[in-house]
Amino acid sequence: MASKYKRPTGTLDILPEDRAYWRFLEETIHDLMSIYGYLQIDVPVFEHTELYVRGVGEGTDIVDKEMYSFKDKGDDDLTLRPEFTAGIARAYVEHGMYKWPQPVKLYAIGPVFRYERPQAGRYRQHTQVSVEAFGEEDPALDFEILSLAHHLFDRLGFKRLYFQLNSTGCPVCRPRYIEALKAYYMEHYDEIDEDCKRRLKRNPLRVLDCKADQCQPVIAGAPKIIDYLCDDCRTHFDTLRGYLDAAGFKYVINHRLVRGLDYYTKTVFEVWAEGIGAQAAVCGGGRYDGLVEEIGGPPTPGVGFGAGWERIILAMKAQGIEPPPLPAPQVFVAHLGKEAKPKAVLLTATLRRAGIRALVAFGERSLKSQMREANRRGVRYTLILGEGELERQVVAVRDMQQGEQFDVPLDRIVEWLREHLQEQE
Ligand SMILES: [Zn+2]
Ligand SMILES: [Zn+2]
Repeated sequence: MASKYKRPTGTLDILPEDRAYWRFLEETIHDLMSIYGYLQIDVPVFEHTELYVRGVGEGTDIVDKEMYSFKDKGDDDLTLRPEFTAGIARAYVEHGMYKWPQPVKLYAIGPVFRYERPQAGRYRQHTQVSVEAFGEEDPALDFEILSLAHHLFDRLGFKRLYFQLNSTGCPVCRPRYIEALKAYYMEHYDEIDEDCKRRLKRNPLRVLDCKADQCQPVIAGAPKIIDYLCDDCRTHFDTLRGYLDAAGFKYVINHRLVRGLDYYTKTVFEVWAEGIGAQAAVCGGGRYDGLVEEIGGPPTPGVGFGAGWERIILAMKAQGIEPPPLPAPQVFVAHLGKEAKPKAVLLTATLRRAGIRALVAFGERSLKSQMREANRRGVRYTLILGEGELERQVVAVRDMQQGEQFDVPLDRIVEWLREHLQEQE
């Protein structure tokens, strides 16, 4: 029967068959975060709209086109979080974390919401892990963030990982670069598309990641921000590169990499995995030294990255990466006859209390039908309770792999199963 209701465009039902990927990702993330000393934080799914307008920035695609904004019944302007960093920075200020020992290293996991054109791996509600470190300017912290991102994808099983890296400068040197970029683009005004003409006014750095064919030759000849960095930004960038070189990480400098958000300063990066098609960036991030101040906190540097789980899982499937399987049922309890059924129900409860993953047959069905179900569930053992077994105080155990059947005393069955199931783990 077709359902009257369908899930909204751009949303996803995560079905049990995909759960092993999600669990693997979640466990890997928690484990790595503890290795690197990052603490978990949760922030609300919605915040005051103004936070994102200030924090993410007007002129960005997120603020201009993609936010789910609404007035609530108290007439407050709210927005479903389109990203994590602004909300985490808000919590950092609100809870006075700038008084904690710095850097404060945090991570959050949860859904974010963007009104985007639906495409493979991109959803209007999608799950992100966001990793943020506040209060430290040292490029060694940028290196830590990049290493952590790399480590995550390495642990997930991705091969041939490398970084794309750039610097977006700072309020000292970026304005000079933007002037040069604008001047160059004005010379080529007739050659660029309407989008870029608009970007040139509102968010000029974004012309560099225009995807239109028409704009590619202009982008290729554009001035490079690397040539405009101030001494501070230059030293920061070179020091980070020094760490990456020494650690043997592969990276390429991508002069076009600016990322979509206003708040980035100095380092911006993406992690790429080869061989997963056009959407090869598996995560991205950078430094945002102006963000905390922008939203009303004390001047506080920050650096971090975010990664979308749906895209990671899509990439894992494309790469043929199999997550460890989730625990499957081990035992199925079948029964035959009126007296056996309540015993079977209670036996199942006892097995579960003993930590054995047990299923019981519901309803009144033929043994054949129950055995078919046991087979379908993929259990190792089926326990059969009938009148004969009850009389003898045993349970008939069918080994579903070997096809053998034998009796085990009812008062020994938990112990027997523990022993035999353990052998197989
Ligand atoms: Zn600078
Ligand atoms: Zn363009």
